[in-house]
Amino acid sequence: MSDTEDFNQQFSASSPPRQIPCAHLHVLLDISSDALLLLDEAGKIVMANKHTEELFGYAEKELYGASFEFLFPSHLHEASLYEREQYFAIPQNYPKAEGLELYGQKKDGTEFPVEIDLHQLMLDDKLHALGVIHDMTDHKAEEREHATQALHLSLLINLVNLAADAILIRDPVSRILFWNRGAERLYGWSEQEALGRVTHSLLETHFPQSQAATDEALEQKGAWEGELTHTSRDGRTVVVESRQALIRDDQGKPQAILEVNRDITEHQRQEQHPQVGTPGSHSFFLRILDSLSCGVFLLAGADARLLFANRSAHQVWGTQWPFLQPLLEFLRTHDITILNAQGQPFAPDEMATFRAFKKGEYVRGLQSIVSRHDGKRLPILIYAEPFELPANMGLPASERAVLLMYQDITAIKEAEYLKDEFVEIVAHELQKPLSTLASYADLLQRDAKAENLPTFTPHQQKAIAAITETTNGLSSLTEDLLDVTRLQAGRLVLNVQSVNIVPLIQQVTARLQATTSRHQIEFQASSETMLAHVDPSRLEQIMRNIIDNAIKYSPEGGPILVAFKEEPERQRILGKVQDQGIGIPKQQHGRVFGRFMRADNARARQIPGIGLGLYLCHELIELMGGSICFDSEEGQGSTFYITFP
Ligand code: ADP
Repeated sequence: MSDTEDFNQQFSASSPPRQIPCAHLHVLLDISSDALLLLDEAGKIVMANKHTEELFGYAEKELYGASFEFLFPSHLHEASLYEREQYFAIPQNYPKAEGLELYGQKKDGTEFPVEIDLHQLMLDDKLHALGVIHDMTDHKAEEREHATQALHLSLLINLVNLAADAILIRDPVSRILFWNRGAERLYGWSEQEALGRVTHSLLETHFPQSQAATDEALEQKGAWEGELTHTSRDGRTVVVESRQALIRDDQGKPQAILEVNRDITEHQRQEQHPQVGTPGSHSFFLRILDSLSCGVFLLAGADARLLFANRSAHQVWGTQWPFLQPLLEFLRTHDITILNAQGQPFAPDEMATFRAFKKGEYVRGLQSIVSRHDGKRLPILIYAEPFELPANMGLPASERAVLLMYQDITAIKEAEYLKDEFVEIVAHELQKPLSTLASYADLLQRDAKAENLPTFTPHQQKAIAAITETTNGLSSLTEDLLDVTRLQAGRLVLNVQSVNIVPLIQQVTARLQATTSRHQIEFQASSETMLAHVDPSRLEQIMRNIIDNAIKYSPEGGPILVAFKEEPERQRILGKVQDQGIGIPKQQHGRVFGRFMRADNARARQIPGIGLGLYLCHELIELMGGSICFDSEEGQGSTFYITFP
């Protein structure tokens, strides 16, 4: 406890005035490190310790007998007098006047801030006051310093918030400690939402190399600069030029990372646009392309380097495809795979882009799935076509280009999924009554043949045959519907084995020939045994469908050729089913393998069908590793080609 504290305690407000012999008091006053003085009831100084003399610059004799006000500048005299009067009137501790700044005045006239405690005490039976004068010069200077620092800090924060750049501070484990307005504007998260979150997971940061490489540079050099790709709150891809600095404490331990991110998304996109046409038309066309919701890419060279991408293009990848980076390298770097509709990865040659590049093929609406590093799977339609580059692009004339278009069909797929679910429920519900009907019709037919029962009239027999035929038709329809839903859900399981397809197809042909007298179905096979890797019941379903179509869509009758041959050099079997029927109109060729697709001429002639057979054939053949395509001319007939491995 200091002398003063001790002293103050002895003279606390609640205790009665102390009787202290004068001689003791002198000793006490001098050992105190505070400026102390003793006043009589008239306010005259009767004693002052050494510190008071030093603080005010007077000798003891100059102070002795002087009034208390003598130590204060004249403009405070009234106040101090008032305080003193207050004090003697009310025997309490010196009341610190609210908001009153007290200044002492030294002998040389300089003023300095003080705080005064006055305590009553009885000396030689007379009321006196002991004044403790605290020099507040250092304390006031500190207060001013703090106020200045607080002001500077608030100015600095205002300045940082004025900046257009995103400025953030994160701790060594990347939790956000500071998030300026620029960051709120760029990324869409408010300060409240961002604080405490881990930057890289909040912003889905993609690093030029890896996070480890960036962290290592920060650790070793204390700073890092480079491009980062972030994702904003609303899913936009944001490319930033990032400058980062590592701040360490006195022991060299990492304390925080300062990060300033400048948005260069637009700038980078502009850079990626090659100069085509006049400046006016250039920006106009870019605006049009940017307003499209589908991704548009222009690729050049055998390795499919990116020349141009519109605004929506990067959304499908979830990351930025850097200008001039080859397609496969980009996919590999970001762990992105393009899958076919069945969920199998495309071999590079099967990808729409390379089909267009290498074979000059026009790919229209190839159903695919983009499987991304973040686990998202986006169903898309891909369109790709060879593209002629203008001469002023500065690329070799021999350089081929491809225009690629991706359309996100997530919403369509979701609607399809609901529809499939509905179809599956209905088909299941139909199966039971249908099988009951079929078994009763079968029973009646057997009864008709039994000798001991009364025979049915010809009319009744016709009715039973009609019931059987209709229920069979309906069962195969519900089976088809269920197959469609199984395929869509990836639940269709094949039983693939090595099968001699010749007798199998012969049987199908013979069975279908028995259903028509107006058509002559000829079966040709280059050898008696042709082994294929297929699911035999599915192959039967496929052949039944294609030959049945040939019959159905040749309403005038005519020859139908079913021919199969081996192609050992390509390790496959090629087959065709040729008719001379109504053919398929050219404008509908692209959609023949779609679900519920029916050509106009088939509808116009009211040929029954629901447009699922060829869709199923296409999907099943592809699942077995084969292919199907056709040639057809309206009014001339159609030829369907199929291959099996
Ligand atoms: P469905 O025959 O039940 O309508 P498919 O899926 O088997 O369904 O065939 C789809 C459409 O393709 C048919 O509706 C028809 O317009 C056309 N089509 C299929 N095969 C032939 C053919 N051999 N000749 C003419 N048109 C055909």
